[in-house]
Amino acid sequence: MMPRTLSAKLTLALIAILAVTGAAWVALTLASTRLYQEEVDQSLNAPLAQYIADAYPLIEGGEVNRPALKDLFDKLMVINPRIEVYLLDGEGAILAFSAESGRVKRDRVDLAPVRAWLAGPDMLPLRGDDPRNAEAQKPFTAAPVKDGDVLAGYLYVVLGGEKYDSVAGMVSESLIVRLALFAGGLGLLAALAAGMFSFAWLTRRLRRLTQAVDRFRDDGFESPMKLAGWRRGGDEIDRLGVTVEEMSQRIADQIEQLRQADAARRDMVANISHDLRTPLASLQGYLETLLMKEDSFSAEEKRKYLDLAARQGDRLGRLVTELFELTMLDSTGTRLNFEPFSLPELVQDVTQKFQLQAERRNMTLELDMPANAPFVQADIGLIERVLENLIENAIKYTPEGGKISLSLVAGADGIEARVADTGPGIPEADRDRIFERFYRVEKSRADAPEGAGLGLAITRRILQLHDSRIEVESAPGHGAAFSFRLPLAS
Ligand code: ADP
Repeated sequence: MMPRTLSAKLTLALIAILAVTGAAWVALTLASTRLYQEEVDQSLNAPLAQYIADAYPLIEGGEVNRPALKDLFDKLMVINPRIEVYLLDGEGAILAFSAESGRVKRDRVDLAPVRAWLAGPDMLPLRGDDPRNAEAQKPFTAAPVKDGDVLAGYLYVVLGGEKYDSVAGMVSESLIVRLALFAGGLGLLAALAAGMFSFAWLTRRLRRLTQAVDRFRDDGFESPMKLAGWRRGGDEIDRLGVTVEEMSQRIADQIEQLRQADAARRDMVANISHDLRTPLASLQGYLETLLMKEDSFSAEEKRKYLDLAARQGDRLGRLVTELFELTMLDSTGTRLNFEPFSLPELVQDVTQKFQLQAERRNMTLELDMPANAPFVQADIGLIERVLENLIENAIKYTPEGGKISLSLVAGADGIEARVADTGPGIPEADRDRIFERFYRVEKSRADAPEGAGLGLAITRRILQLHDSRIEVESAPGHGAAFSFRLPLAS
């Protein structure tokens, strides 16, 4: 089973790496120790074969000199029993040897290494066939054996015997090897301990981060994570932490926003039903009265009730349209159609529409615009709606005989539009609230002009979508002035 923490996994990987490295190191140590020993052995004993060949006439008159051989073998037995001496003929066949007879497995020795040895080897150790083992090779020393002046064979001396044949033998016999293995093992353990410690240390921030993320999840993604002291300028883990922290903040904010939007939507539905109910009830009331009193009403009275009902119908229709408009503007998918256009031309067009209405109420509509204003960049349909709302309000709330002034002022980065009137103005206390949905200053006044309180909410939303805002100035009794600014087309 895989461990569940990162530092445990890293430790496991480290153990595997150390095991492989350790094994390779042991193999290398043993092999190089053996090579070194063989090299030393061979170079120290190099002249041995020649001494013997010089000291003993081993072949005489084509015959092996048995007494001389026996004398030699006896002496060697005493001096260095590990040295094995073989007498070869000119072809490499073994004529005699010093080892016990049953242990020799070959009857001839390859002469190529012997000749290389006699020619002076480039590098030690040089190995030749080991007669005691049909497969193995061993370091040796050799010398030609002369019968008078004729080359009669070779003296072949195998060094070291069977001493270094097995690894176990080497380990048990060599203090150096044992020491090296012990030190190496200790070193690996120390490396493992250091590795485990540093992994635990390096991954501690990841552990903290994981705990923080877990906590964030357990809290339903609502309370953002707090990682004290993490900096963006740090390493990858620091950056990861800071980014995750920001993400958690974002997620929590958005959940909160969704919740608020949901609450707002519920409020709005409640508001809408409430607001639709009033004109609907009046409409129903007028129509029912008409139905009941159809016979007793005079034509004039009937006409009056029909008029009243029609007005409520109108009001209802407008309300529904405005609510729909506002909902559309609020939905996140709203796409604005930005284009460059001439604001003075638009103002001209819109004022035209209200000319008649203003005249009917005995009001003057005054325009003050620069002759060659640069184009602005905006959604022309929505800006038209803004102007309509502001002018309509100005006409609606200003008493007969008043004056409405529209002005445009071009600046370096935009054009400011302003709609001012000479009406009653807006009390200080209401000034911030008139842009809220359904908010009306004169809600309690019976003779107040009709309206649902949605026009300015729509206006504010449209300008918000243009990254702009609607401002209002008013000195009560001296009229109100609404203004906003649009950016120039580049
Ligand atoms: P309404 O449909 O009632 O006109 P609006 O959102 O357009 O809704 O306006 C909100 C309120 O702001 C109005 O009810 C009115 O009290 C006040 N208001 C708006 N424009 C003016 C103005 N030009 N002069 C005085 N009061 C205004």
